[in-house]
Amino acid sequence: MPKHVDPHGGWEVRLDLECVLCTRTVATAQGPAGQPFVPTSIRVRRPEHVEAVQQRRCPYCSGGLWLQNREDVYVYAGQRQPRIARVS
Ligand SMILES: [Zn+2]
Repeated sequence: MPKHVDPHGGWEVRLDLECVLCTRTVATAQGPAGQPFVPTSIRVRRPEHVEAVQQRRCPYCSGGLWLQNREDVYVYAGQRQPRIARVS
């Protein structure tokens, strides 16, 4: 564990983009905590699904995507990597 918290780090929110119809998780969005949530990065699980995710559509069934499974992560300055690893 670090001895001090970098003042330029900060809390971010990570959410899964999940289909409302088939409940598949197709991407993970992350961005600064706050309302409205504006993701600064979206990681799509499969490269061929990027286009569908950009249109907020499920690549499997064309259902809508919504944000699920909110998770707060602390991001250190210069290291835009979440410190808390997802266990699933
Ligand atoms: Zn779907």
